[in-house]
Amino acid sequence: MTGRCTFSRVEVEAGPSLSESAARLRERICGRLGRSLHVRQVDAGSCNGCELEIAATTNPLYDLERFGIHLVASPRHADVLLVTGPVTRNMEIALRRTYEAAPEPRVVVAVGACGSSGGIFGEGTYAAVGGVDRVLPVDVYIPGCPPRPQAILNGLLVAMGVREARVEPLRG
Ligand code: SF4
Repeated sequence: MTGRCTFSRVEVEAGPSLSESAARLRERICGRLGRSLHVRQVDAGSCNGCELEIAATTNPLYDLERFGIHLVASPRHADVLLVTGPVTRNMEIALRRTYEAAPEPRVVVAVGACGSSGGIFGEGTYAAVGGVDRVLPVDVYIPGCPPRPQAILNGLLVAMGVREARVEPLRG
């Protein structure tokens, strides 16, 4: 892929290679957090295609944990909420509660076409509210159906930048 994706308010670079994105991500994590970034993944109604790609980021090829990024079981331990959608009406309240349980400064990342906009499932139907931003304030969008692991990694890099911008004023 070439060029820039302007699908969202936060642009996601489509250009960097996996190794470039990984090196930048590791540098930011080590420099800012010391050791790690904790990510809580929330399936708000996806077909599980996006989950397969998120799971692929932890396989031996991408090995997300070598960069200090950990998928965690509780939002109370999370720096980032990685949300797939579309948000079904049955999951709307659970998603709001998950967000409220995550400590500030939490960052929300919408994954996939469905998480970003409702995708092929649309918005405001009897079953689905729509994209994640219909329920939560989304900071980063990762388009694609499903997005590749490299795009997810790059989206986490953008999320790291958003988090840094929020943490910096707190440091004084
Ligand atoms: S973006 Fe594609 S892969 Fe992801 S949940 Fe929607 S339909 Fe499934």
